[in-house]
Amino acid sequence: MKPLPEKTCAACGRRIEWRAKWRDCWDEVRFCSARCRRQKPGPEAEAAGRMILAMLAERKSGATICPGEVARKLHPDTWRDHMEEVRSVARRLVADGRLVITQRGQVVDPSTAKGPIRLKLR
Ligand SMILES: [Zn+2]
Repeated sequence: MKPLPEKTCAACGRRIEWRAKWRDCWDEVRFCSARCRRQKPGPEAEAAGRMILAMLAERKSGATICPGEVARKLHPDTWRDHMEEVRSVARRLVADGRLVITQRGQVVDPSTAKGPIRLKLR
């Protein structure tokens, strides 16, 4: 059987690991989990995506930003509640080829990176 194309979750932006139960419906699979299916990205996620790209466009080429800067700019009082949303949006932008995620200056795999990350235009 030929390998199936890789997919990225439409909510969290992590790689979706293929499961046998998806054999006949892989084309329709969009989310990695029931939790992600319930947390479909909405207008706030769209705004976060635009803000990430706008903030990076304002900086010098090769500059990085922290997801927290994006969350603070959009939600000054409740930014902590929006960190995972910003990180999810960033992972999806990596899948779209717009960004890379770095740790200590090295590009990392968004699906497995743990701890603080920084965002950089690709
Ligand atoms: Zn997911």
